[in-house]
Amino acid sequence: MARTGSTITADSSVQELADHGFVLTKFDQIVGMARKNSLWPLPFATSCCGIEFMSTMSAHYDLAQFGSERNSFSPRQADMLLVMGTIAKKMGPILRQVYTQMAEPRWVISVGACACSGGIFDTYSVLQGIDKIIPVDVYVPGCPPRPEQILAGVAKLKEIVQNESVRRRDSPEYKTLLRSYGIDIV
Ligand code: SF4
Repeated sequence: MARTGSTITADSSVQELADHGFVLTKFDQIVGMARKNSLWPLPFATSCCGIEFMSTMSAHYDLAQFGSERNSFSPRQADMLLVMGTIAKKMGPILRQVYTQMAEPRWVISVGACACSGGIFDTYSVLQGIDKIIPVDVYVPGCPPRPEQILAGVAKLKEIVQNESVRRRDSPEYKTLLRSYGIDIV
């Protein structure tokens, strides 16, 4: 185990190991770190909040600083679904299909009042929050939220991703959650 000729015994302290260039951590932490720094966004933008996301991607706000500059419009190559804008009830099944086509692990950020709750559109045709049809990890309030708020939402999601157990997606609780949305587990 030693790097420079000295021997590290089994009872070596963590500090001793660190002094020899070793790092002790948990598998969950390493996987979490890799995942949180490579979140690929799938922007599902239907109206004004989508414009704020375009600003968030621009050089000024620079979403790329989080390793998320690679937008994917194919659900198969994305793991962070950002829903931005008014979602009509007719559009609900499409959004749900996009979500189910994403591979696990996948996360969802609901951006803006419309996606979170229907916003000002308390009408027969508008979905009163996307969490009626898919699970949501982070809610970003505002009409529209500023790019700083979207960045704060991404930062919050990174925290969740870092601390998520690698076993969560196989857990009975997660399967129950998906079943409560009527989503089949494959
Ligand atoms: S929350 Fe406001 S800005 Fe965003 S889509 Fe709805 S009406 Fe537009």
